[in-house]
Amino acid sequence: MNYDVIIIGAGPAGIFTAIEMIKCGTNKKILIIEKGRAIENRSCPKHKTGRCMNCKPYCHITTGFSGAGAFSDGKLSLSPEVGGDLPDLIGEALAEETIAYADKIYLEFGADTKVEGIGNNEAVKKIRKRAIQAGLKLVDCPIRHLGTEKAQEIYYAIEQYLLKKGVEMMFSTECEDLILDSGKCLGVRIKTKDGIVELKAPHTVVATGRRGADWLEKICYEHNIAHQPGTVDIGVRVEVRNEIMETVNNVLYESKLIGYPAPFKNKVRTFCQNPGGFVSQENYDNDLAVVNGHSYKELKSQNTNLAILCSHNFSEPFNQPIAYAQKIGELTNMLGDGKILVQRFGDILDGKRTWEKELSRSNIKPTLPDAVAGDITAAMPYRAMINIINFIQAVDHVVPGFASTETLLYSPELKFYSNKVKLDKDFNTNVEGLHCLGDSSGWTRGLMMASVMGVLMGRKLK
Ligand SMILES: Cc1cc2nc3c(=O)[nH]c(=O)nc-3n(C[C@H](O)[C@H](O)[C@H](O)COP(=O)(O)OP(=O)(O)OC[C@H]3O[C@@H](n4cnc5c(N)ncnc54)[C@H](O)[C@@H]3O)c2cc1C
Repeated sequence: MNYDVIIIGAGPAGIFTAIEMIKCGTNKKILIIEKGRAIENRSCPKHKTGRCMNCKPYCHITTGFSGAGAFSDGKLSLSPEVGGDLPDLIGEALAEETIAYADKIYLEFGADTKVEGIGNNEAVKKIRKRAIQAGLKLVDCPIRHLGTEKAQEIYYAIEQYLLKKGVEMMFSTECEDLILDSGKCLGVRIKTKDGIVELKAPHTVVATGRRGADWLEKICYEHNIAHQPGTVDIGVRVEVRNEIMETVNNVLYESKLIGYPAPFKNKVRTFCQNPGGFVSQENYDNDLAVVNGHSYKELKSQNTNLAILCSHNFSEPFNQPIAYAQKIGELTNMLGDGKILVQRFGDILDGKRTWEKELSRSNIKPTLPDAVAGDITAAMPYRAMINIINFIQAVDHVVPGFASTETLLYSPELKFYSNKVKLDKDFNTNVEGLHCLGDSSGWTRGLMMASVMGVLMGRKLK
């Protein structure tokens, strides 16, 4: 079977490649291969069971049409300063321009017209002043919030649009390997119930997201696709009462703070803030349970959660950041008997574990009820833990009460960013006909930047 373009992965990067090719008037034959299901068939059983069922063969939260986007909080960060390193590759001006363009596409498919985090200049100034006093940088980032339930509607409309325009989609189909010959990519090998099938195309786009990071790393080694070890972020999900975050939530919706706390001076940042949101558990294919957070447009909790992440890079002799973070995750899971661990900030400072009965004495009620009270410091590397503690104390200057005794820290919060595939400005790898996009390329880390990379790829392949 022959196509003009084969896209592996139906996340925002893959989807926006196809959308933009169609918008440019292409008549090329496009195939999207997706190991998960169509969006209307994706559902997380946790809604019914109240706990993560560790679905096999894959987690419906991160797999299927729209990728990790459909069930994500759907916060579109409208700033080139957020969402990965793509501006270093394509230039800040093009990144900014394409963000505005991709944002219009989301609006066309029904996104909320309201943008959070703009206006309120006086209030923002006050927050920034406190951030400066605490040695933190406040990043300006307007946010369009789709909301978990609305994001599914928007991506469903996109799925139907692509099908109507003749894009072929194979769901529940996993790409096993690439077909390479003399430095050229000729297509892909997919796993079907009848065995391995070969599909050919002059252009293959790998857009397999963070879940495909391990697979892509293997493929890169096997086929000499030029890449370099990526960054890995290790941290915690912090949860506080809405009252604590009220000012920041109202003025900015999401406070993007960056610091380099002593003594290590590593980059530490806030990420994915969810006012009135819920802490959630995600399970990777290798049974690793990691913590995340999201918020609904309508359903609100009493709490706000956000991640605090420390970036880790390795060079010699060790260069496997993903394996390093996985080991930390496994150790934390072991201590929590396979569940997410939660600990009060005050207990960390007092050098003691948190007990279940102590959680019920607080103002805050955990929104992840199956998290297990314990000691996250028993698994967190010293450097990361000190970075997190010192950063939380700095944030307390900006948000008084953030470093309270009862503040909850969930672990492991790990962000695997894939190895960074070496790309030119047209997203060509060193293998002819092979392109790599989105989170799996190591160049993006969010819905908007993955979409932007897709738009630009679509223009090249039209
Ligand atoms: C719970 C959660 C909340 C999030 N919230 C936000 C947010 O609010 N804002 C934000 O900007 N970002 C958020 N993110 C991150 C965001 O979803 C990702 O950055 C974005 O989806 C990346 O897009 P992508 O297209 O590169 O990859 P993905 O969306 O991960 O899509 C990749 C697709 O490829 C498929 N795939 C992988 N391997 C194969 C294979 N071998 N064969 C076939 N198919 C394959 C996967 O099933 C998946 O559907 C969140 C992520 C999660 C998990």
